[in-house]
Amino acid sequence: MPSLVTHLESAIDQTRLPADRPQTLHKGRPLWVRYDLDAVRQTFSKDQLAQRPPTMWRYRELLPHNDPAQVVSLGEGTSPLLPCPRLAQRYGLKHLWVKDESQLPTGSFKSRGMAMAITMARQFGIRRVAVPTAGNAGGAASAYAARAGIEAYVFMPDDTSPINQYECHLAGARTFLVDGLITDCGRIVREGIEPMGWFDLSTLKEPYRIEGKKTMGLELAEQFDWHLPDVILYPTGGGTGLIGMWKAFAELAAIGWLADENRPRMVAVQSSGCAPIVRAFEQGQRHAEPFDNPATVASGIRVPAAVGDFMILDAVRQSGGRAVAVDEAGIRRWMREATASEGIAFCPEAAACIGALERLTQEGWIAPDDRVVVFNTGAAQKYPEAMATNLPRLRKDEPIDWSKIAGNAATDR
Ligand SMILES: *Cc1c(COP(=O)(O)O)cnc(C)c1O
Repeated sequence: MPSLVTHLESAIDQTRLPADRPQTLHKGRPLWVRYDLDAVRQTFSKDQLAQRPPTMWRYRELLPHNDPAQVVSLGEGTSPLLPCPRLAQRYGLKHLWVKDESQLPTGSFKSRGMAMAITMARQFGIRRVAVPTAGNAGGAASAYAARAGIEAYVFMPDDTSPINQYECHLAGARTFLVDGLITDCGRIVREGIEPMGWFDLSTLKEPYRIEGKKTMGLELAEQFDWHLPDVILYPTGGGTGLIGMWKAFAELAAIGWLADENRPRMVAVQSSGCAPIVRAFEQGQRHAEPFDNPATVASGIRVPAAVGDFMILDAVRQSGGRAVAVDEAGIRRWMREATASEGIAFCPEAAACIGALERLTQEGWIAPDDRVVVFNTGAAQKYPEAMATNLPRLRKDEPIDWSKIAGNAATDR
């Protein structure tokens, strides 16, 4: 069956562009992938869906690539939706879930976007890709490029977590450390397009990573039996996931699959150390000024300037949501409290969402009855700096003072 994509559409001025060739930006801004949603409605049923394997490719009528035999896959999706009763109780909620994306290939939800982008790149005959990364996008791009037999080049700030550095190299990508920010890495990738002949996989600079991340929204809807939750807390960097989920909900509504009118209020969570979207939200702007000296242990949201800023802000506003910056100094505490409460390894980005949850429940903006979902976008284990702790030591040759064992805690570094 051919894909049900009709065309690509400029997000800034709605210009139509053909989808049968590689595309990047239009007037410096991203593109939407558009489908024949009437055809999707006619050819796709919930019964059919129920028969399919639990991967992101089960939604193929709503994806740009439609042939499960031809996709570049490491078995991505479905991620579990885990109830969190202890955290719910702490914040006075009745219904709280974590959508645990840390269980995806390469330990983050970046695999959804990259599985889709690399699938499309291979279909278009692209042989070489490059990506600037705050960490996890590089890891995912490297893995999927290896899987597809495509050459990958990765550029990351030189203070990126060593795990991200090594995972890219391990997967065979030519990996480079840059003494600057992700925006500097992005410039290198852009300048290399001509001399190196690579395709730029930067966040939102090609249209398909959104479609991959959109599957988080499709999955969530299915897991909630098509009654969407009331609030989604999402750690926002480039915004692909938030934009993609909002698009997913619109497409599900258009094909008549949602059980009611309820749409989640989307909360874009950032750190006080890097909060360009929050600043623009608070000032009522549609575009965000670049954030100076961005610094946060939540490296996935250390994105000082996002090419899709207006798409994030539009989605947040349309949803009746908020953009919220949490105190950078609290992230490690929320990470440990949340992980210790539920046994889910919260990455620092998701810990920022716990900080937002704390604040928004205190303010009463999130009500006790609200059905709330927090996205754990990556695995804590990829962040040795954020996890680092001084553990108490025992000497094997000395008698153990048992009275000290029960009460002795590690001290955070
Ligand atoms: C990339 C990343 C984010 C931000 O995702 P966007 O969809 O680009 O906003 C959040 N958390 C983690 C762990 C990431 O790797």
